[in-house]
Amino acid sequence: MTTTLKPIRSLRPTLDTLFHIDYTWWNKEDRDLRLYLRSHLCAEHRAQLAEADLDGDLIDWIDPNTAEVKRTDALVLLMRTHCAQRADFIGEHIGIVDGVFRVFLTNDNQPLTPRQVAEQINRDADTVLRTIGGKQVYQGIRPTSG
Ligand SMILES: [Zn+2]
Repeated sequence: MTTTLKPIRSLRPTLDTLFHIDYTWWNKEDRDLRLYLRSHLCAEHRAQLAEADLDGDLIDWIDPNTAEVKRTDALVLLMRTHCAQRADFIGEHIGIVDGVFRVFLTNDNQPLTPRQVAEQINRDADTVLRTIGGKQVYQGIRPTSG
């Protein structure tokens, strides 16, 4: 038996709605993405790169899982290969929005549900949904279909 599944568009995101970082939101809102990205570097790198001009640099990077060459932002790559490996990268010391953002930053912006994100940042799924699923969009985190 085959059933055609049509995506149901509900007005309100649920625990199973897929979210991601919508980078177009940053352009539209004219916010400083680069500055925000820098705030996610570890203390060591923040100090080291305070004077460096890495913004917008693209590096060819080979994805260890797929062996595919990807053009990646130098800042994001550094974060992924160093800062994100630190035990305190996603901890309870940072806010929910920052935590969610870091999850997407390091997973190559693969869409995840609030349930999945909550597990990764060790928070309550309903709290995560309330935070990112409301009317206000935080740091470009919004449903993939929205
Ligand atoms: Zn670092």
